[in-house]
Amino acid sequence: MTIDFRSDTFTKPSPGMKAAMFDAEVGDDVYGEDPSVNELELTAARLFGREAALFSPSGTMSNQIGIKVHTRPGDEVICDAQAHVYIYEGGGIAFNSGAQVKALVGDRGRITAAQIANAINPDDVHKARTSLVCLENTSNRGGGACYDLAAMQEIKDLCTTNNLKLHLDGARLFNALVATGAAATDYGRLFDSISICLNKGLGCPIGSILIGDADYIKQARRIRKVFGGGMRQAGYMAAAGIYALENNIGRLATDHQHASALANKLATKDFVTDIMPVETNIVIFTVNGKYTAAQLAAVLREKNIRCSPISPTQVRMVTHLDISAAMIDYSLQVIESL
Ligand SMILES: *Cc1c(COP(=O)(O)O)cnc(C)c1O
Repeated sequence: MTIDFRSDTFTKPSPGMKAAMFDAEVGDDVYGEDPSVNELELTAARLFGREAALFSPSGTMSNQIGIKVHTRPGDEVICDAQAHVYIYEGGGIAFNSGAQVKALVGDRGRITAAQIANAINPDDVHKARTSLVCLENTSNRGGGACYDLAAMQEIKDLCTTNNLKLHLDGARLFNALVATGAAATDYGRLFDSISICLNKGLGCPIGSILIGDADYIKQARRIRKVFGGGMRQAGYMAAAGIYALENNIGRLATDHQHASALANKLATKDFVTDIMPVETNIVIFTVNGKYTAAQLAAVLREKNIRCSPISPTQVRMVTHLDISAAMIDYSLQVIESL
């Protein structure tokens, strides 16, 4: 048996989720006739207090559609220099939207209203038109760091004043909701669009949802078709999403406890020189002389534990619903023995 901390995308559908998929009512979603997709989209929209939502195969597609609808070619998008939309989506902002990025160096993936205010271009023919701000919550490269609601409200106010749209890459938004106690509707109020992933901590095999107002989602539906993301009997996947929203949100707190336990144990080892504060389900730490990141990953792999070296000296471990308490106990013993 392998204990896979490489990502929270390594989960397999649970028996309950598989049963829900097997029994799903389906139809042709490109015709708008898949009842399970329609139910998932409506459920997600209501959860965030918004009018509409759009099911997509991946978080990348949701983000890219979201950005495309908000921008025109030649525009500038403001985000953190480590944002997934910027560094992990294959240059998608340039490729799909013909827009460029102004990347800001934030604190563990989080940027401030003051930084953004400084980065907005004046109305000048020499300058790209700043049209969109993208935030990421939790921040993946920031070690699962969460934004404060007040900080996001300040950013929202700035965007309103400057006529900018505000998009949230909420691939792990439910982790942030569970960790901070904020309500989904707080986010629905702040952001013009929100992308959530079902295929991360919520344990679905596939799927992401873009949430916004009805007109925005109508445009997004057209772009999804252009991107090749119009799926037919997608209800089998949507049923997994409905199951996940009903059953797999509350248990994210367990993932967070597991991540803290790993971090606390790692902190006792002298080959670990730095650990990012653990707020949710991601642990990113730095190793020194005894191991490079790749060497530590190889040593752990021999003990059937997988983790991701994300730089020569940094390792990432992510907890998820296929990591049990017993697996954590075993992992703590292995780390202790190093
Ligand atoms: C995983 C991830 C995505 C995209 O998800 P895919 O479904 O793998 O395309 C977007 N943003 C963040 C922060 C992620 O971690």
